[in-house]
Amino acid sequence: MLPAPAHAVSLLRDARLARSTRPFLARGGSRRVHCPGCRLVTSHCMCLLRPQVATRAGVCLLMHDAEPLKPSNTGWLVADVVADTHAFGWARTEADPALLALLSDPQRQPYVVFPGEFADPARVVHAVEPGARPLFVLLDATWSEARKMFRKSPYLDRFPVLSLEGGEASRYRLRRSRRGGHFCTADVAAQCLDLAGEGVAADALQDWLDVYSERYLLAMHQRPVDEASAAHVRLQTLME
Ligand SMILES: [Zn+2]
Repeated sequence: MLPAPAHAVSLLRDARLARSTRPFLARGGSRRVHCPGCRLVTSHCMCLLRPQVATRAGVCLLMHDAEPLKPSNTGWLVADVVADTHAFGWARTEADPALLALLSDPQRQPYVVFPGEFADPARVVHAVEPGARPLFVLLDATWSEARKMFRKSPYLDRFPVLSLEGGEASRYRLRRSRRGGHFCTADVAAQCLDLAGEGVAADALQDWLDVYSERYLLAMHQRPVDEASAAHVRLQTLME
């Protein structure tokens, strides 16, 4: 069990907790002790396996209200692996000045990651331009919340919309990562990193997500960790 990493999502969670007037109760929350570092029950802690990869590309998570508090949120895993991760709470009526400053950084090219079929076709792209450092803006929310966030964030309207359905690399990753018909935030971030030519970071994030998902389920069913599982072996091999 390790202390919580001071990364973008854990800091956002702390700020969100400080603002809540009543304790957040996770759905199906157990009384077992959870590690503040990885959020798993302590018997299934994975903190010591955490990979960290330097990237040129950045990730900006726009998180819907309670998202940073959910134990199953995978934006947290993105912040674990990718140091250049930024996280902001989304509000309909205002935008965080730090978010606006990040989006205006001339060194970066923001992309709003969203399905192209829901965007103005003139904005839709399927690849990352070489040159400026890409900043992938991910709407971390349920699908219906994300659609609302996409429509009601005018400060995002000037950026291209990166639609992940095209491209060979993304199709490969889609096959590998589709879970129950939708992608979680960490899956989407891994696909973006892959498109940006950050293959090692993409693989590290995908493997980290796989190890997390596996341990999460094993903990739920009160079964022991399997350090020899395919996901563990992939992560360890990648980090050697
Ligand atoms: Zn842990």
